[in-house]
Amino acid sequence: MIGKLKVNNTLTKKKEVFEPLNPPHVGLYVCGPTVYSDVHLGNVRTFMSFDVIYRYLKFLGYKVRYVRNITDVGHLLDSGEDRISKKATLESLEPMEIVQKYTNDFHDVMATFNILCPDIEPTATGHLMEQLAMIDQLVDNGLAYESNGSVYFDIEKYNKENTYGKLSGRKIEDLLNQTRELDGQDDKKNPLDFALWKKAAPEHIMHWKTKWSDGFPGWHLECAVMSTKYLGKEFDIHGGGMDLQFPHHECEIAQSYGTYKKEPARYWLHTNMLTVNGQKMSKSLGNSFLPKQLISGDHELLSQGFSPMTIRFFMLQSHYASTLDFSNEALIAAQKGYFKMANGMRIIKKMEFAENTEATIDEKQKEQIEKFCDNCYYAMNDDFNTALTIGHLFNILKKINAIHTGQLSMAAIGKETFERMKSTFISFNEEVLGIKAEDSLPGGQLLDIILKEYQQAKEARNYDKVDELRSALKAGGIVVKDMKTGIDWAYEE
Ligand code: AMP
Ligand code: ZN
Repeated sequence: MIGKLKVNNTLTKKKEVFEPLNPPHVGLYVCGPTVYSDVHLGNVRTFMSFDVIYRYLKFLGYKVRYVRNITDVGHLLDSGEDRISKKATLESLEPMEIVQKYTNDFHDVMATFNILCPDIEPTATGHLMEQLAMIDQLVDNGLAYESNGSVYFDIEKYNKENTYGKLSGRKIEDLLNQTRELDGQDDKKNPLDFALWKKAAPEHIMHWKTKWSDGFPGWHLECAVMSTKYLGKEFDIHGGGMDLQFPHHECEIAQSYGTYKKEPARYWLHTNMLTVNGQKMSKSLGNSFLPKQLISGDHELLSQGFSPMTIRFFMLQSHYASTLDFSNEALIAAQKGYFKMANGMRIIKKMEFAENTEATIDEKQKEQIEKFCDNCYYAMNDDFNTALTIGHLFNILKKINAIHTGQLSMAAIGKETFERMKSTFISFNEEVLGIKAEDSLPGGQLLDIILKEYQQAKEARNYDKVDELRSALKAGGIVVKDMKTGIDWAYEE
């Protein structure tokens, strides 16, 4: 019943059926955050996309080892200034104090959005010896050279037998033409060469003594080292944001292949960008939103605050490889969708199949529901299409609501189909998409107390109080439902 898992192979641009190297084990590596600044919503989108990929592979029964690194060393910015050291000097902090603070914040944000922890979360500074060993190996293999205390990867040499740029489809001649004039000020043989080891300037706080110089490792090196250390020289899936495809992932391939003569990852998955008015959300462009601003609504572009699950729902309504434009209106629409889904979840969780031996089976309805359930798998199997999956879940939701309101008889679809509908709806929402009831309801635990009050007022025929409580809850986004089975509530859709 479960279709074949297709994963979009960006190396060949054709869809292939995914087969792990060592089934049932799957190795998944995702470039992690740089921990010297706040995580913005664009970053959240990327980590959430891989969270769903991790969840779905596990859901299918694969034993996934998910490695997501922490970039804590401080890689060079274009300006040549290291972010950690700059901040440490400004705030008289230990660099590791800054790294710890932002790592903790990052973990909090991940938990807020129900993003699962990886199985291994290695840090760059914790893997210095391995990075030095890879540099040595690359020098031995004739693909790296020392120059004035720094060590560079020799792109032109690598390119004699390999193709630098094949992941992003760039040609080395074009790259050379683009960069030549900009360069000339450093020790590289060729402007495309990238640093494996960099001699530290005197003001650079984090540095280590090596035979080359007192310096620090290059950013591209850390992922090449940590991915292969924990997942093997060849592993299944490597991911990151689209902006990392070039040069970060090209450099990673060159280093790993240059060291081990093996392509590191068999599948490269890149998430597309979260944009604001069509422009990439980024800290440097000044258009980034922090998760806490979105939750509180404290931003000039927002009319209200949005809950973490609404934001999760909003992000998963698009395919990870498409861009997603962020706007107040889109979030309001997503909130409606999330409330519908959350209401459906509450309804189906309480519903138990009631046997009715006299009922006749409605084959058409049964078939439709079975098809909707199959479609959830097909959509996720096709390059993790969460957008389509949500559409199929809404189709199932219509059937759940029809049963709830009595338009469709539960007995007419039979126990087997009912149970499948129930488990597919709940597991795809909760386990696969990570969509669950909000941790904190509007009103929190007070809601139960108010509902009890409401019931008592109703029993006492105190209709003024009933109306008063009903409108107070409505103002908080909760609709009271007088069901035959008792008092219930739902999010106002
Ligand atoms: P950083 O901490 O800046 O290295 O970024 C962490 C991850 O977020 C990387 O995989 C980036 O590609 C990704 N990223 C950065 N900006 C965006 C954006 N606007 N939309 C989606 N992903 C992004
Ligand atoms: Zn990386």
